[in-house]
Amino acid sequence: MKLAKNMTSLFASLVATSKSATAFSAAKRSVLSSSSSSTAQSKLRLVPSTSFLGAGSAAAAASLSLSSSQLFSSTTTTDDDATKKLPYESDPNYDYDMVVIGGGSGGVRASRIASGYGAKVLLLEGKYQHGIDPYYSAIGGTCVNVGCVPKKLMVFASRYPAVIAESQGYGWQNPTDKATFSWDDFMEAKNTEITRLNNVYSKFVLANAGVETREGLGRLNGPNTVEIQATDGTQDVTSVSAKHILIAVGGWPFKPDIPGADLAITSNEIFYLDKQPKKMVIVGGGFIALEFAQIMDGLGTDVTLMYRGDLFLRGFDMDVRQHLLEEMSRNTNIDIQFQTTPTEIVQNNDSGSLTVTTNKETTIVCDQVLMATGRKGKIDTLNLETAGVHHENSFIPVDDYSRTNVENIYAVGDVTDRIALTPVALMEGHSLADTVFGGLDRPSDHADVASTVFTTPEIGTVGLSEEDAVAQLQNIAVYKTKFKPMAHSFPKTEAYTLMKLIVDTTTDKVVGCHIVTDGAGEMTQGVAIAIKMGATKSDFDRTIGIHPTSAEELVTMRTPSYTYVDGIKIEE
Ligand SMILES: Cc1cc2nc3c(=O)[nH]c(=O)nc-3n(C[C@H](O)[C@H](O)[C@H](O)COP(=O)(O)OP(=O)(O)OC[C@H]3O[C@@H](n4cnc5c(N)ncnc54)[C@H](O)[C@@H]3O)c2cc1C
Repeated sequence: MKLAKNMTSLFASLVATSKSATAFSAAKRSVLSSSSSSTAQSKLRLVPSTSFLGAGSAAAAASLSLSSSQLFSSTTTTDDDATKKLPYESDPNYDYDMVVIGGGSGGVRASRIASGYGAKVLLLEGKYQHGIDPYYSAIGGTCVNVGCVPKKLMVFASRYPAVIAESQGYGWQNPTDKATFSWDDFMEAKNTEITRLNNVYSKFVLANAGVETREGLGRLNGPNTVEIQATDGTQDVTSVSAKHILIAVGGWPFKPDIPGADLAITSNEIFYLDKQPKKMVIVGGGFIALEFAQIMDGLGTDVTLMYRGDLFLRGFDMDVRQHLLEEMSRNTNIDIQFQTTPTEIVQNNDSGSLTVTTNKETTIVCDQVLMATGRKGKIDTLNLETAGVHHENSFIPVDDYSRTNVENIYAVGDVTDRIALTPVALMEGHSLADTVFGGLDRPSDHADVASTVFTTPEIGTVGLSEEDAVAQLQNIAVYKTKFKPMAHSFPKTEAYTLMKLIVDTTTDKVVGCHIVTDGAGEMTQGVAIAIKMGATKSDFDRTIGIHPTSAEELVTMRTPSYTYVDGIKIEE
C-alpha cells in the first residue's frame, strides 16, 4: 500500500509537468502505434506487446503470471490484420534469417521481436531446465535462473525477521518465539517456480512467437554458419546457415586465481546449496556481493564480507555508499572487512569446513566461501575467430546498433560490457530486431538507466552521481535529506533514509536521483521516467506530495544543501 502510494506520488509529478506530459503522450502514442503495428504484422503469433516485453527479467516473472486469456486478448490479430504484409521477407538462401546464440534476456527479446516482423529465427540455449551443473542457467537466461528472479525471492525471504522484530513496537506479542527458516522448503518452492518459468519460456513464450528453439551450445564456423553441439550427452554437432547471427551468451562468474579457489562457490551454486551455511565468507564489493551478504545475514547465517577496496559499490554516489555502510553496520550482523582479500582457501580434514587466509594474515573458518568478484563474457567456446569477430578480453565491442566488426553478426547484453542489467539487455535486443527486421532506425539508448541494489535498505539510483555531475557539468545544486521514516520511528529502530537530488543549475534539470530506503527501487522507477523526460527541479517543486509517505520528500526539498560553481563546492 505504501509503495503504491509512493509510486502514485511520482506519477503525479509527471502529470503535473505540462510540457513533459505532452512528451509523455507522444512517447506513449509511439509505443502504442509500434505495438499495434507489430501486432498487425504478426499473423496470429504472440508479438511484441508492451504488456509482455519484460520476458527474461524479474518484471517478466510478473508478466508471465498473466492468464493466457489476458495475453491473447491483447496480442492476437484480426482477420484484417492477418492479410497485411510483414515488413521483413525471409531470405530462402539461408536456413534461418537469424540464429541467436543464448536464450537469456537479450536473446529471447530479439528473437521474439524479429519473428514478429516475419524473420525465421532459431534460438539456441544450453539447457531448457535450470540448475544443471555445469550450465546452471537455462532458457530465460541468468536473470530467470541464477540472477534477478531467484535472488529477489531470497531477498523477500531474508527481510521477514526484521519485520517480525519490529512488529513488537506495533503491539504484537512474542512474535519471534517460534520463527525458524527452512532452507529446504524455500529452495523447493524456489526451484518449482523457476522450473515453471523455464517451461513458460520454452513451451509458450518462444513457441507462440514463432521462434524455433534448440537445446545445445552454439558456436561460429565462419560468418554465416552456426554449429550446434548437443548437450544431451551425445556431443553431436549439427550445422545451420544464418543470414544474421546474434551473440547473446551473457556472462559468467569470475574467481580470483588463488590457491583453493575451486573450493569457493559463485552466484551460480548458491542457488543450489543442499543446506544453509552457518558461517559464510563473501568476497566482493559489487551489488551481487552486497545483496548476498544481506540475504544470508537476514536468513541467519553468520557472514563476513571481504572487499579489497576502501568502500563497496564503486561508481555509485559516495553519500549512498557511506549511508549504506552506516545502515549495514548498525542493523546487520555482517562483519565488514575492507582492504581485505583472501589469499588461500583450504579444506579442513575434520568437518569439511574451510579456512580462509587473508592478505592481513588473519584466518576465518567457515562452511562456504562465495566469490562475487566480477563476471566476464562467456565467449570462450564461440570460435569467434572463424568469423573474424573482434573481442576485448572476454567482451565483444559493438556499435550503437549492437553490430560487431562483422557486418551480419551482432551482440547484445552482458557479453558487450555496456550496462549489465536485464532491462538493458532487453532494450538492446529489441532495438536490434526493430532495426534489422523492422526497418526502423533504433540505436540502443543507454542514457539515464535506473537500477536498484536489493540490500536492506534498498538503493535506487538514476542519472549522475554527485561526483560525476560535478565532473561533467561543473555547476550543480545538491538537495539532500536524511531522516528516520515513520515505519521505523514508531518501533524505535535506528534505520535511516537518504534521498538526494542532483540538479544542473544551468538548465534546472534534475540529472540525478539517489534513494536509500525501504522500497527505493519502486520509487526510483517513477523518478526515472521524469528524469528521462527532462523534468526540472521546478517541476518537482510544483508536484504535490502524497502524505504520509517517504517519497513525498522528493518533492519537498526546497533549499539546496550545497552547490558547485565552476566545479568548486560552496556550502550555503
Ligand atoms: C546473481 C545475479 C543477480 C542479478 N540481479 C539483477 C537484478 O536484480 N536486476 C537486473 O536488471 N539484472 C540483474 N542481474 C544481471 C542480469 O541477470 C543480466 O544483466 C542479464 O541476464 C543479461 O542478459 P543477457 O541476455 O546478456 O544474458 P543472460 O541472461 O546471461 O543469458 C545468456 C544465456 O546464454 C546461454 N549461453 C551461453 N553460451 C551459450 C552457447 N554457446 N550456446 C547456447 N547458449 C549459451 C546461457 O546459458 C544463458 O542462459 C543479476 C545477475 C546476477 C548474476
